Amino acid sequence: MSLSRRTMILGSASAAAAFSLLPPSTAMAAEPAAIIDTHQHLWDSKRVKQAWLESAPEILRATYGPTEYAAATRGLSIRTVYMEVDVVVEDQNKEAVYVVGLCKDKAELTKAAVIGGHPASPGFAKYVESHLAGGFVKGVRQVLHADTTPAGYGLADDFVRGVRWLGEKGLSFDLCLRPSDLADGVKLSEKCPDTRFILDHCGNGDPKAFHPELAPSEKPWHEVDIWRRGIADLAKRPNVVCKISGIVARAPKGWKAEHLSEIVNHCLDSFGPDRVVFGSDWPVCLLGAPLMDWVTALRAIVAKRSAEEQAKLWAGNARKMYGLAGI
Ligand SMILES: [Zn+2]
Repeated sequence: MSLSRRTMILGSASAAAAFSLLPPSTAMAAEPAAIIDTHQHLWDSKRVKQAWLESAPEILRATYGPTEYAAATRGLSIRTVYMEVDVVVEDQNKEAVYVVGLCKDKAELTKAAVIGGHPASPGFAKYVESHLAGGFVKGVRQVLHADTTPAGYGLADDFVRGVRWLGEKGLSFDLCLRPSDLADGVKLSEKCPDTRFILDHCGNGDPKAFHPELAPSEKPWHEVDIWRRGIADLAKRPNVVCKISGIVARAPKGWKAEHLSEIVNHCLDSFGPDRVVFGSDWPVCLLGAPLMDWVTALRAIVAKRSAEEQAKLWAGNARKMYGLAGI
């Protein structure tokens, strides 16, 4: 089914449900008034060390600070939640101090943060607690999608204990998993029912899995079915939210909005309008496109959904989830 036909059916169905008494034109959203980017990275190798960056593509090995972000988002009404950048353990504290300082500065676009941390490490609770003053830190992430992470790592007792503790503190945990490990995410969310999980990057869906014709020589990261099932199962868990982000970084050259639509629509349809948030994943998105191209593509993909659903995706859900009233 083509993109236009699919979105037309989905869009008209959801719009009709939400706005049955309104003329169709009312349900067609204009450009979103406000955006909360729930996945903004900032980095400077002079400040912190990111070992993974040393072998990353050249475009990522530059300095990406607030000034560069402001330039990349010029013209948008945007505020952000900083996302940790997988610095070396010794620099985790320094990274957290930096970003909390940024959040305190009212002139900055960054209003809240998800800091890096290792839930299984002995000093985890003490470390996180030392950054909670002011209420800017909303959650923690430890990426689990790297090749070096052993299978089942996130289900070990010590890890689970740390993630449960986050829930007790009202903090969330960001799940960044290999698509083949989404089932582990389900198990972890069951073991920690009082912790809110945010699934990063549409569960790391790979557009090449859906459109192998765009990059015939590249092997997609996963099979379509395992990802589809993982998303559907995670969506059944009430304590999991899906972040619509990240997929652009894996999109092959020449991609268009329609090549991302299966991933986005499966996430939106599975999680529903109240458990999805937008993220840019800047500057990692630059591997596939400038931030503005991702925003434009996502606007096109969701254009036929109701204005209310769109506003929730772009900002409303994040505002509520992170307690960012007035932003
Ligand atoms: Zn990221």
